[in-house]
Amino acid sequence: MSMKRPLILFMFISTIIASEKPILESMLPPNPFVIPAEQVEEILQASGLEVEELLVQLIPIAQSFARPPISNYKVGVSALGKSGNIYLGVNLEFLGLPLNSTVHGEQFLIANARNHGETEIVAVAISAAPCGHCRQFFNEMDTSGKLQILIPNVPPKSLSSFLPEAFGPKDLGLETNLLTKPDQCPLFNEESPLVEKALQAAFSSYAPYTESKSGIAIQAVDGKVYMGSYLENAAFNPGISPLQTALVAFVADLREYEEISEVVLVEQKGAKVSQKATTKALLRKVAPKAKFYTELREF
Ligand SMILES: [Zn+2]
Repeated sequence: MSMKRPLILFMFISTIIASEKPILESMLPPNPFVIPAEQVEEILQASGLEVEELLVQLIPIAQSFARPPISNYKVGVSALGKSGNIYLGVNLEFLGLPLNSTVHGEQFLIANARNHGETEIVAVAISAAPCGHCRQFFNEMDTSGKLQILIPNVPPKSLSSFLPEAFGPKDLGLETNLLTKPDQCPLFNEESPLVEKALQAAFSSYAPYTESKSGIAIQAVDGKVYMGSYLENAAFNPGISPLQTALVAFVADLREYEEISEVVLVEQKGAKVSQKATTKALLRKVAPKAKFYTELREF
């Protein structure tokens, strides 16, 4: 008799836990990589969740979209932007390439938010503590270290507690940061619409350390175009290439790499660093049939 009540209670709790995910999923847009502010409000009202709780509950949903064929370790990230939008991030690994081609879940998240014009991330929930590389990447957008980091079953902590005595953009004399809104992009009147998009992506890059802006435009088989801007980091290595940022946009639209038909890289004439060799290497693995070319411009 004494075992019966705890068993019923356990079954009741299990039912609640098991039913939570489908209910939340039914409230999400078909593509949850960006949840617009109005929809976030609706979900919070309907579910009675606090936004921090919602972020944590979105982690397993984000994880289901991860693409880690090397480690099989799925990272899921969700974050609230100042706009009220919620963004998701996942890790991307690439078979046959060095591990530094990997896009970490947190990098994906920030690139995804930046691709949608977000200028500040307020809170971020991650499936496990961020690696050192990602703590440094976060520091590029929040040098004050106030960013709230939520990990399931752990009390919330600020970025500064994960990364004390941080080295960042301010140490290199920078006043802007990774999410500072780029200048209004002009029209370049390029003959090729794809080159125009790659040039616009290059213009919007964050390359304060090398002043070597670069951008990618990917055209999918159905003609849809995805842009990616080069994003640097004060510690150099945690930055991400324009192709990686464009692949973030591509994956965040639930596309498969085989759907890439054409890729253009635009770089600045006389730049100190070039993305050409690494772009070629990564493309050869993810979309070997895609047409690839580069253009140099002065801007
Ligand atoms: Zn990481």
